[in-house]
Amino acid sequence: MEVRVSNVRKEFDRFPALRDVSLDIRSGELIALLGPSGSGKTTLLRLIAGLERPTRGTIFFGDEDASNRTIQERNVGFVFQHYALFRHMTVADNIGFGLKVRPSAKRPTRAEIRRRASELLDLVQLGGLEKRYPAQLSGGQRQRVALARAMAIEPKVLLLDEPFGALDAQVRRELRRWLREIHDATGHTTIFVTHDQEEALELADRVVVMSQGRIEQIGTADEVYDTPNSPFVYGFIGESSSLPVKVEDGQVWISDRPIGLATPELADGEAILYFRPHDIELLEECNGCIAGTVAASRRVAGTRRVELEIGGSRERIEIELPVGHPAAQKSRVAFRPKRWKVFPKAVEG
Ligand code: ADP
Ligand code: MG
Repeated sequence: MEVRVSNVRKEFDRFPALRDVSLDIRSGELIALLGPSGSGKTTLLRLIAGLERPTRGTIFFGDEDASNRTIQERNVGFVFQHYALFRHMTVADNIGFGLKVRPSAKRPTRAEIRRRASELLDLVQLGGLEKRYPAQLSGGQRQRVALARAMAIEPKVLLLDEPFGALDAQVRRELRRWLREIHDATGHTTIFVTHDQEEALELADRVVVMSQGRIEQIGTADEVYDTPNSPFVYGFIGESSSLPVKVEDGQVWISDRPIGLATPELADGEAILYFRPHDIELLEECNGCIAGTVAASRRVAGTRRVELEIGGSRERIEIELPVGHPAAQKSRVAFRPKRWKVFPKAVEG
């Protein structure tokens, strides 16, 4: 099922949790809503589920306006961060629950429900655990059962709200890969909420970056990582370095010197240059480049982070070099960012 969110606003007591959100989710797509806490991810998911009504705007399921449909009518599967399994029910009964509570005309027989629960347990690689109770499972196993339960109703859309958020890092990484495999095998349209950029970038077909109730950018992992379209995305996804600069005559300047970066589309004025610390070209001579004095350096995993004091600006900036790179031993380093973007100062932050 294809889901379309069109100009949706959601207020809670006048507070806009979502400001003006539009988003097209393709059928069979695995999409991640990524943003810091409070950015509106859960609210958007609950609106798609039908657990909340938009203050303004429309949500379509396929061609149909679903805005006033209940969660049952929308037929969505939901998994929350904190295991919402029924403690007093076995695993099989948990998975079959959504089928069992259907009106009798649509309810499968008990044998069918049992068979379906077993199939789903095999799918989530927990075959044979039908008779266990949630307390007898690990956290990761419980979330797999929760996913099996959400899939049991054959939902049009699967909605997952930080489903691995309460698990430790190792288990999270395993479940991430596992979820991708399950998704590829079943082809459910899936919306996955996370505040963990690594999780979103690894898992999703497309990532929706959210901040303060707005969508900042929508794109593949490569697109949002390689070409962030706002200072927020630069800062939120991956590492970034930034430096106050000036735009004059379509050129980027640091104090009284152009640094060899052209920005014909930007108006003159104060601005901020952003780039990835590792995505730079070191230069022997500085004829239009960024040059600085090495102020500090430290090893971070397999690389060396070098802090440069930029000549004539009293600003410091970080670049990243391979461990053992000769430039890290020098006192003066000149470079040019390979990929970069300049934003006018007024819109920063
Ligand atoms: P996220 O899931 O990204 O952390 P939420 O969607 O939960 O963000 O919340 C977005 C904003 O809306 C937050 O400021 C939150 O406090 C507010 N909010 C969410 N739900 C409610 C509610 N039921 N009543 C009042 N404010 C809410
Ligand atoms: Mg949330």
